[in-house]
Amino acid sequence: MRNALGLMLASVVTAVAITAVWFWMASARVEIAAAPAALGAPLADRLAAAAPANPAIAKPATARDEVEVTGAIAAKAAVSVPPKSACANPDALGVSRVVEIDTTGGPGFGFEHFKQFDFLTDKEVVLTFDDGPWPYNTPAVLKALDDECTKAVFFPIGKHTTYHPEILRQVAAAGQTIGSHTWSHANLNSKKLTEEQVRDEIEKGFSAVKLALGVAPSPFFRFPELQHNPAAVAYLGTRNVAIFSCDLDSFDFRAKDAAQIINTVMTKLDKQGKGIILMHDFQRHTAEALPTLLRRLKAGGYKVVQMKAKTTLQTLPEVDEALIKDKVPTASTRPLGSVVQTVSE
Ligand SMILES: [Zn+2]
Repeated sequence: MRNALGLMLASVVTAVAITAVWFWMASARVEIAAAPAALGAPLADRLAAAAPANPAIAKPATARDEVEVTGAIAAKAAVSVPPKSACANPDALGVSRVVEIDTTGGPGFGFEHFKQFDFLTDKEVVLTFDDGPWPYNTPAVLKALDDECTKAVFFPIGKHTTYHPEILRQVAAAGQTIGSHTWSHANLNSKKLTEEQVRDEIEKGFSAVKLALGVAPSPFFRFPELQHNPAAVAYLGTRNVAIFSCDLDSFDFRAKDAAQIINTVMTKLDKQGKGIILMHDFQRHTAEALPTLLRRLKAGGYKVVQMKAKTTLQTLPEVDEALIKDKVPTASTRPLGSVVQTVSE
């Protein structure tokens, strides 16, 4: 009896000791995981744990090396980004670098119009998509990006966003960057618009994105038809919104098929060597072209840079409220049962 008790006691002491050692080791791992510099280490652990039977998958070095992050805050964000092991495609195009943009004062990007910030190095590209969200085409673009584990910047139209908020939410859920492209795709350089109408187009576009997502968008903006109205450019500066032109226009909206888009982009890229590429997730041919285009980028040695904003945009509360009212045309708060009753079935 005494022996049995002694044995039980010894077992309990051993169990406690094992748990304490395990806990200490687990804490140490969490600390390593929190340090961006050691991103490769826990990732290797996870890879090894997930695929012990396949040592070829558990290569820790490339996972970290392929994602270079600029800026301290971006480094934190990179830790929360799904690890490379989440990518099912070992030959994916991926994201080679994440850049964080401080949008204070409204910097402009895209050498077709703004030549101040030459941040891309040779063979680096930024993928951008305008005019969505749209059924079939936007989800197809998203799938192509997902299949290659790569990221882009989306500039949705406010009205389209109110038609298909669930599609925009898919874009956000995929970790893509989302800015805005006005409320109704009006040419903001048109003499027909007053300054107030121009501002309304800008603000309502951003508020529509916020309404769809439930969170504020990135302060990234692209003018419809790349028509940069000088007064609006100045206004966006006061709102600390970055303005996007492009380095390379795919002219996908007038392409006769997917092949033409691929050819235009690759020909221009091979000549220019790098750049922000303008495309449209609204366009069917673009959705069709994307899987092959992304493969061609990979084969050509091009690397994708993801652009993120340092802060989100503070939308104007009065514009948010007006938009919500527009979507709810009556002020009735009566419950459904008092308004609609089944009287025969
Ligand atoms: Zn557009």
